[in-house]
Amino acid sequence: MKRFMVAWGVMWLALSGFVSAADTNLVVLRTVGGVDSELKARLVSWVSTAITPVTDGGIAVPGTRTGKGPVVLILAGECKPGDLPASGTNGVVVVNLKALKLDDMTTSVARETYARRVEKLAVAGVAMQLGLLPCPFPRCALYQHETVQDLDEKARGLCPPCMGKLPEVIERYRNR
Ligand SMILES: [Zn+2]
Repeated sequence: MKRFMVAWGVMWLALSGFVSAADTNLVVLRTVGGVDSELKARLVSWVSTAITPVTDGGIAVPGTRTGKGPVVLILAGECKPGDLPASGTNGVVVVNLKALKLDDMTTSVARETYARRVEKLAVAGVAMQLGLLPCPFPRCALYQHETVQDLDEKARGLCPPCMGKLPEVIERYRNR
């Protein structure tokens, strides 16, 4: 009987490892402050498509990331005046939603422009934390735009050369 219990324990461990496969995603998205759930779902979907699958991690809790954990993408609903629209360091990317809003958010065009700004900064931030470098191609999400106009003109995704480097970078991040 005892031997059976041990075997069952091992099987249970293997099973739970399988069930939590989503937790092996290299990116987890968390929110802080008021964040629209539709925008959040859109970001989970887009970053998963453009880079690598994203786990929806719920509310951000300070100090939970360990050195080897996934990249943490934080959508922040509130920010102080003068805060950068986005920042990234030590595997944590923060996108300050308020800093990306247009003055007039009443039109559907404005709301789409805003959502795309968030997507572009999230993709660029995550890609750089995974190990990609800024890109000189103005249409690539990794282009270091200097004006809001440049931000609005670049794409939400990576250019073909950056896409080409992505699998190697992801592999290195996974095995670091
Ligand atoms: Zn590029």
